[in-house]
Amino acid sequence: MESIYNITINELEDFLVNNEEKKYRASQIMDWLYIKRVTSFSKMSNLSKDLINKLEDNFFFDKIEIIKKQEDKDVSKFLFKMEDGNLIEAVLMEHDYGNSLCVSSQVGCNMSCRFCESGRLKKIRNLTASEMVLQIMKVEEVIQKRISHVVVMGIGEPFDNFDNLVHFITIVNYPKGINLGSRHITVSTCGVVPKIYEFAKLPFQVNLAISLHAPNNEIRDKIMPINKIYKVEKLIKAIKDYVEVTNRRVTFEYIMLKDINDSKENALELASLLRGINCYVNLIPYNETENISFKRTEKEKILAFYDILKKEKINVTIRREFGSKIDAACGQLRAKGEVM
Ligand code: SAH
Repeated sequence: MESIYNITINELEDFLVNNEEKKYRASQIMDWLYIKRVTSFSKMSNLSKDLINKLEDNFFFDKIEIIKKQEDKDVSKFLFKMEDGNLIEAVLMEHDYGNSLCVSSQVGCNMSCRFCESGRLKKIRNLTASEMVLQIMKVEEVIQKRISHVVVMGIGEPFDNFDNLVHFITIVNYPKGINLGSRHITVSTCGVVPKIYEFAKLPFQVNLAISLHAPNNEIRDKIMPINKIYKVEKLIKAIKDYVEVTNRRVTFEYIMLKDINDSKENALELASLLRGINCYVNLIPYNETENISFKRTEKEKILAFYDILKKEKINVTIRREFGSKIDAACGQLRAKGEVM
């Protein structure tokens, strides 16, 4: 038995063909699941009783439940409980261009980035593709609006759950289903280099973001253990290769951590590291959290860092501050939920 929300259109077609059913039924089933959003096979009234039985014998509808919602202006954070009791979260951001949802990919995370709340709670397990799909569907159900953009930037390292991630993207990208355009999907990684190469080979135009956060190995080693395995040079080489293969622009995320990575020298070093790469840098004011002692760089210093990058002709933006009042930094709500 498998969750029906784990199944791509091609897999569903194969299932049908192997079970003496017509292939075209697959798109009817997808329509019931993702357009009409029924949650039992018996409601799929254009299917034969026989087919419904076959579906019931092989697939189930899994559920995830919203147990808490926190709101602050145009940001809402949802705490979800999985069927096995594990907790994860998703953050909704309402922009003028649409509704963007930040989804989780794992329960906990093994990357142990020093500044990150998710990393304090080790990985318990990967999320299934269906649990990622359901984060979108549940939030849409609650807000009664469509999610137009998805960022895989919640709890977890998506490239440490690669197959489920690819499945998830395939399912939500299906045009007659949830129909999220691949350019509206962004995957963020701390830099699992071999997976960057695999990602480049995928047939979709999904955006890639890299959590860089440091301009050199000395700083990156201190704050991101992944750097001990894949050094900055290896990561940058992988990104250059990725851009060459895909012809797509990458985003570098750079959290501004007071007195760690925010000096003028750091800005200049970052500019020379990224020179010539088709990219842009997103400077992120650090969201301070109770359990971790890193502090956020002062506003003036963030602006000075920004100015240097601009002068050096690096495309750069400063992330609008989302959700710091509602613990919207990755992992914060879950961390609280667990101590409550
Ligand atoms: N593992 C993936 C995706 C999840 S983290 C990755 O590393 O990219 C999503 C982003 O939030 C990362 O850039 C991460 O470094 C950042 N982040 C984590 N804790 C944060 C905090 N307290 N404030 C601001 N950004 C944070």
